[in-house]
Amino acid sequence: MRTRLIFTGRRFRRAKPGEPYEITLRSARDWAPVSKKVVVDLTTTGVGQEWTADAPAAFWRSFAAIDPADGEAAASFCRRHGEPFDRLAPDKPASTSDWLELLDALRAAAGAWEPLGPDGVSRITRDSDRLRSARCFLRDRNLTIENDVKPEQNFNTGGFHNRAKVLFAFMIQSAGHHLENETPMRACIECLDYFEHQRSDARFCSGRCHVAYQRRSAAKNAGNA
Ligand SMILES: [Zn+2]
Repeated sequence: MRTRLIFTGRRFRRAKPGEPYEITLRSARDWAPVSKKVVVDLTTTGVGQEWTADAPAAFWRSFAAIDPADGEAAASFCRRHGEPFDRLAPDKPASTSDWLELLDALRAAAGAWEPLGPDGVSRITRDSDRLRSARCFLRDRNLTIENDVKPEQNFNTGGFHNRAKVLFAFMIQSAGHHLENETPMRACIECLDYFEHQRSDARFCSGRCHVAYQRRSAAKNAGNA
C-alpha cells in the first residue's frame, strides 16, 4: 500500500532577491577553500500564505533547475512554494548559499529523467548508469530528513500517512517517490513547474494556474480587440 505524503508550508508572494555576491566554500575537514559560488539573499515583507499538499509533488525538479546566482528564479520559487528550510520571514533574510547541497542532491535525482519530448512529456531514462547515480541522490550529502518526516495516523480512516515538516524534506520525499515509480512529468504552461503526467491533455499543474492562464489570455484578447 502506498503511504500518503502530507505537507503544510508557507509561500511568500512578496519574496524579493538582493544583488548576487560571491562566497568561498571550504572543506569541513581543514577549512581550506575549495571553490567559489555566486549566491543571493532573499527578503520578504509579508507573513506568507499557507498552502498544503496531500501527495508528492514534482516541482522539486523545477527547484533542481535553479541557478543559486539567479535571484529572480530563486525568489519566484519562494513566491510559489516557500523557502526550503523555513528560513525566510519579514525580519529574516534567507540565502541561496543554504540551498547548495539540496540543489546538488535534487539535480542528481533529476538526472534520471529525459528532457521534455515533442509530446511535452519528460520520461525516466533507460540509461542504467544515470538511473543508478540518481537513486543514490542523497549519498555523500549532509541532508537528513529523519527528523523532518514523521508517520501520522488518520483517526478517521485508521490509515497512516507521512507528514513532511519542512519543504526540503517534502521535496526529497517526493523525488524518492517519483524515482521509485518512474513517474512521467510535464511542465505547466503557466508557471513552468513540473507536475505528474496523468492525463494526456493536462497542461496545468493546478486549477490556480489554469485560472491565471485564462485570465491573462482574456486580458490579452481584450487588448487586441
Ligand atoms: Zn503551474
